[in-house]
Amino acid sequence: MNGWEYVPKYLVVTGGVMSGLGKGIAAASIGKLLKDMGFRVIPIKFDGYLNMDAGTMNPYEHGEVFVLEDGSECDMDLGTYERFLDIDLFGENNITSGKLFYNVIQKERKGEYLGQTVQFIPHVTEEAKSWIRRVAREQKADIVLIEVGGTVGDIENAYFIEAIRELILEEGRENFFFVHVTLIPVIDPVGEQKSKPTQHSVSMLRSIGIQPDMIIGRCKQPLNSKVRRKISLFCDVPEEAVISDHDVESIYMVPFLFKEQGVHEIIIKKLGLKPKQRNVLLYWEEILSRREIEGQEVKVAIVGKYTGLKDSYASLIEAIRHAEMHLGIKANIKWVESTDIESSSPGKLLSEVDGIIVPGGFGSRGVEGKIKAIEFARTHYVPYLGLCFGMQLAVVEFARNVCGLEGANSTEIDPKTPHPVVDILPEQKEIDELGGTMRLGSFPAVIKEGTLVRRIYGKELVHERHRHRYEINPEYVPLLIKCGLTVSGTSPDGKLVEFIEIKGHPFFVGTQAHPEFKSRLDRPHPLFVGFLNACLERSKLKSAESKLSLIRVSDEKLYLRYFSASEWGKLERL
Ligand code: GLN
Repeated sequence: MNGWEYVPKYLVVTGGVMSGLGKGIAAASIGKLLKDMGFRVIPIKFDGYLNMDAGTMNPYEHGEVFVLEDGSECDMDLGTYERFLDIDLFGENNITSGKLFYNVIQKERKGEYLGQTVQFIPHVTEEAKSWIRRVAREQKADIVLIEVGGTVGDIENAYFIEAIRELILEEGRENFFFVHVTLIPVIDPVGEQKSKPTQHSVSMLRSIGIQPDMIIGRCKQPLNSKVRRKISLFCDVPEEAVISDHDVESIYMVPFLFKEQGVHEIIIKKLGLKPKQRNVLLYWEEILSRREIEGQEVKVAIVGKYTGLKDSYASLIEAIRHAEMHLGIKANIKWVESTDIESSSPGKLLSEVDGIIVPGGFGSRGVEGKIKAIEFARTHYVPYLGLCFGMQLAVVEFARNVCGLEGANSTEIDPKTPHPVVDILPEQKEIDELGGTMRLGSFPAVIKEGTLVRRIYGKELVHERHRHRYEINPEYVPLLIKCGLTVSGTSPDGKLVEFIEIKGHPFFVGTQAHPEFKSRLDRPHPLFVGFLNACLERSKLKSAESKLSLIRVSDEKLYLRYFSASEWGKLERL
């Protein structure tokens, strides 16, 4: 018991064979099942890298940097946990080697180790264990779900797995459940599922003192009984605890896959837990069944610079998925590399889409392409959603092409621009020198009455997560407004522009925040629902045009019809 007041249960998820198997999704799916049974599940993700957090990591290499309410920048798996468990996590829920070593070295410098030789074991492992216990206690976990990043056998995570092994000794094996997620490859043309890599990986896990209680096999097709039997026998895991994690249509189907195989029942039985209820996934079942109802499709372009690695936009994709399921429609994403717009024309790449999103981004590559895409959306009345950088560039476009401010830009892109409509504010420059370079985490915004954004949110005060250095320059706001831009929301003191829109456009909205971080399947984000609704309207209008052979005189005309017939029924009677 370690003299500690309460012992939660520990569910530890390790990975074998190779990375990129969807271990985080498997872990979050188990967490979701247990949560639905009435347990408070608190995830902790361990990452072996030496960065303190993911904030300094290139999304092209590591996927999206996820931002939490408290401003922590962390691994994108934390986003999966927030979405699956519908909770808000803290920086503490993401342990990295960087954070652990930093703490240990700080203690050493302060002399807290009283002259001892400071070592991986016991000092770093002790730091890891007390971190886990602290999070469990502070966040009142019934079950602590620890996901060990990387693969068993990596140098980076070996000491952390050792810490967990020590934890078993101190807390009691009966309080632990180990899940090992591995790959079951098929290489021959006959399609035989191979268990050998799993066997090797499990034997490595055992050699460091951990016997898994469950093995989850990632594979294309469902695991057959032969391979299940083999894994069970060689890895000493009951056959029913060898779980098939085969390809399914959506990540939100994975909990259903596990439910069918009784994953949650096996876990609570072994841990001796009594669930408050056994009927799991009811609400998700209802949401997921919605998507088939209407069968309506829209096409949404995402114009960015990391379109080659979809993980860079993980939360954005999920926010779109949540909204589409909520509306019972299908949103097909067209990825548009912004540099391609620079070398061709926006019309070529964007003419058939029903909506355009310019997401967050940094640096100058592809910026002019994004600005062209925004101009196209504004002048062709294509629904537009600008997220963070996407709002800043919408302001640049508006300043140049509507206000006539030639050469207007963000100082991030052109430090010498004659019209710095997006700039680092003096207050932030000071912070910069102290090393905290960004506005990070949740900030309030006040939304103006009578705006589209207000209608969408349905309230005056909203909180969204931020991650940026630059702001709309307040000096230019009066001119932007005079030229027709609506500032629909600001920081409570009125100083910072948080939302913009353009009146008379079906849907042209920009936000300085990243609403995608807060969207959940259970609670889709209103901005995405509003945006997809506008896309749907546009796509209906387009198909009606061809059905009723209305002549599209110009885009202006299309737009007028759109508004004269805001209800679809009315339009059909035209
Ligand atoms: N690069 C911009 C800034 O730092 C936008 C950042 C973002 O889109 N997250 O302000």
